[in-house]
Amino acid sequence: MKYISTRDKSIGLTSSQAIAKGISSEGGLFVPETIPELSYEKIKSLIPLDYIQRAKEILKLFLTDFSADELDYCVENAYKEGKFSSEKVAPTVSVYDNVNLIELWRGPTCAFKDMALQLLPYLLTVSAKKACPDEKIVILVATSGDTGKAALEGFRDVPNTEILVFYPVDGVSPMQKLQMTTQEGENVNVCAIKGNFDDAQNGVKAIFTNKEIEEKFKANSLAFSSANSINWGRLVPQIVYYVSAYCDLVEQGKIELGDKMNVVVPTGNFGNILAAFYAKEMGVPIKKLICASNANNVLTDFINTGVYDKNRQFYMTASPSMDILISSNLERLLFLLSDMDDRFVSDIMNQLKTTGRYEVPKKVLSALQDSFAAGFCDDEATKKTIKETYEKYNYLCDTHTAVAVNVANDYIAKTGDRTPMVIASTANPYKFSKSVLSALTDDVKSTDEFSMVDELNELTGVPVPVQLASLKNKTPRFNNVSSKEEMPKVVLNMLGL
Ligand SMILES: *Cc1c(COP(=O)(O)O)cnc(C)c1O
Repeated sequence: MKYISTRDKSIGLTSSQAIAKGISSEGGLFVPETIPELSYEKIKSLIPLDYIQRAKEILKLFLTDFSADELDYCVENAYKEGKFSSEKVAPTVSVYDNVNLIELWRGPTCAFKDMALQLLPYLLTVSAKKACPDEKIVILVATSGDTGKAALEGFRDVPNTEILVFYPVDGVSPMQKLQMTTQEGENVNVCAIKGNFDDAQNGVKAIFTNKEIEEKFKANSLAFSSANSINWGRLVPQIVYYVSAYCDLVEQGKIELGDKMNVVVPTGNFGNILAAFYAKEMGVPIKKLICASNANNVLTDFINTGVYDKNRQFYMTASPSMDILISSNLERLLFLLSDMDDRFVSDIMNQLKTTGRYEVPKKVLSALQDSFAAGFCDDEATKKTIKETYEKYNYLCDTHTAVAVNVANDYIAKTGDRTPMVIASTANPYKFSKSVLSALTDDVKSTDEFSMVDELNELTGVPVPVQLASLKNKTPRFNNVSSKEEMPKVVLNMLGL
């Protein structure tokens, strides 16, 4: 299978070349030229399998230049016993009626990013061996909190790689910050940026095409790649869990094979929900993909009107990993919905860059609305949802998941659509203890992060993940803060160039 760029269809790479490169030289994103099909027969054959086996079956359809041995090596190491706190890796659990959650936060850093970032280092090192065997890979990451930690953990001490993470200095939760600044490993580096996530993401994108850096990299046999969801290797592992969730619903007797499900995803950079769209296009019976946003509701407006306009106020919310106004992966969706029109995509991405706004034609909008619905809620509604979901159904969700639960409830109330639902649960509640605790009680006694963790635990009895509890005793290693203009210099410094 060939991979083409959303801005230049004539580029044809293997999957390992696309993963090693991360982003196409003209700025486009790599996508598979065709979408492999999953027949009902095939889905049926996946139902009795465990997560690792399901993953191998799905991934081999996309990563066609990986040998069976290579895929076995990657997948078995990524999801091996002991890495995830559920033997099912990503369990699908009932919340109420026909509403289910798929818990994607059972991995080492307690957010859904682990689902992809435990696998990506294996995919990337195997890819690099094929695509550019003599180069050391430098991973650059812009993070709204969870990707950074998951990528650091995934790439820590992976031979022949260096990883550098940039995060918005005031844009992450205290727990997220501590997770990153205390990161262990010889090949890791972390830097805070004065600005928001979009600034960090734009800064990273600019470094990829910075001429001075490019020359220094060539001279030193270094090559960039990305661990953000612009990298296909980040996206493809995420397709697996939507197929797996469907198999789980059938296995649990909640639907019959062939029945449809709805999928609700708390969305920021549009990576997670795009993976669900790929699953749908492959043939998983999905009726609607429901895109849930927080107060940064640029995607809600886009899906409802066809106008994407990032010229609006940016809010820092209780769900920081969704505080994004430029959702990179939308580019891939627009490419697919426009019947792979690379000129159209280049054009609107140019408009976005120069004016911050674009509008898609009617045909694209109607294709968009065939598959997607959208909604949003603010922090107050998010907290109310955390409290209600806990009190009514005894399920404690984090702030991001709560946005999705809120939008799911709204969608059901507005449409009367009772199709069984799977909501992506994207983080463990203890990553956002302060917000979750203050959602449950008006009378928070603690002032520091770890007392809040304890207080939340006493109040609910929900166990605290050891990875988070143990941060209490660690000292931060990385305290640097820089401006976004200084990012290229920071990169060169960190690499000793
Ligand atoms: C990253 C993240 C999201 C948003 O996912 P995208 O793929 O960027 O849309 C939602 N919730 C949590 C907890 C996250 O870490």
